[in-house]
Amino acid sequence: MTKTILFDLTESELEKFVTDMGQPRFRAKQISEWLSRGAPNFSVMKNIPEKMRDDLDKIAQTLPVRVIKKLQSSDGATTKFLLELNDNERIECVLMRTSYGNSVCVSSQAGCAMGCKFCASTLLGLKRNLTVNEIFAQILVAQWELRGDRFTDKPIRPNGDANNGDVSHIVVMGTGEPLQNTDNVIGFIERANHDMGIGWRRITISTCGVVPGIDKLIEWGRPINLAISLHAPNDELRKKIMPIANKYSIHEIMDAAWRFTDLHNRQLMIEYILLGDIDGNLLNATCECAEQLVEIVRNKNCMVNLIPWNTVAERQFTSPSGNAIHRFQDILIKNGIHARIRRERGNDIGSACGQLRISEANK
Ligand code: SAH
Repeated sequence: MTKTILFDLTESELEKFVTDMGQPRFRAKQISEWLSRGAPNFSVMKNIPEKMRDDLDKIAQTLPVRVIKKLQSSDGATTKFLLELNDNERIECVLMRTSYGNSVCVSSQAGCAMGCKFCASTLLGLKRNLTVNEIFAQILVAQWELRGDRFTDKPIRPNGDANNGDVSHIVVMGTGEPLQNTDNVIGFIERANHDMGIGWRRITISTCGVVPGIDKLIEWGRPINLAISLHAPNDELRKKIMPIANKYSIHEIMDAAWRFTDLHNRQLMIEYILLGDIDGNLLNATCECAEQLVEIVRNKNCMVNLIPWNTVAERQFTSPSGNAIHRFQDILIKNGIHARIRRERGNDIGSACGQLRISEANK
């Protein structure tokens, strides 16, 4: 028998579920409070009688995701979760405790259809879009990791305050292309803002450049942050590593991106993985590429995030030397471009981009 996912029920449906069990209505409110903290099972619900918890366990499940595996980085700052959905698809999410807050990287799809040549998430293709609740449940898993049942004072609900030990930032940068599931991603963000008090400006969507999706974000009008996975400074090279480049040119993507950031007066983030070919020759990390990138972002409100490539065994690339990476960064900086090298978090736990899901699927 498939279990009822209580998180998916409305308030009145939950009340009916509880009263159908022969229990008083107020139990629904208690359960709902536990759900909003991310309770992973019923045994943690200390204010519910043990018999009822056992009964619930037989017929119901709390969240629409189950934690299958939890990996902790050696420095303790990063926790990665492998989660299973009700149709047994698997997704990942990552909690990063940083100096600016508690940030969660969520997946928007099971698998990915984009086919980027350097990425592990797309290796098994796209399985399906995630629902609003399946995306939202990922931040509740992280919230439970941060706080568990250590809620002593009001408010009962998390309120997006890192100092309080809550999830404070969200990046939609896990598996999947968020702008191929735009409506559910928007629904998720609205909910994270409303239910968990996470401010628009602490939320970032990363896209490989699905132009109609960026237009939809413009129409939606919330001042979130946008990140573009550019990874190449000209269309010819981009087509070699990212199939989406056959659909939208860099010019079209950047035009949409600047319209978005101008509207909200936000800084655009450009993601740029530095890649070498299998023989170690620089691919998109040459000085010439850096100079072309400068022309794309010159005089724009923008930050370039240079990303050392995380090795994916199935993928035929190499990571350039530290020297090559710094030379690339220097060219950007000399031209007045704000460029940072992304700190790798949780590298020791396969935290990059679908790696855990793939390694489990290969077993
Ligand atoms: N589809 C969206 C969001 C998911 S990918 C997008 O393309 O932006 C999130 C980021 O991780 C992207 O910038 C992606 O290019 C990058 N990425 C993918 N595989 C990687 C790898 N092996 N090493 C480093 N970054 C990677």
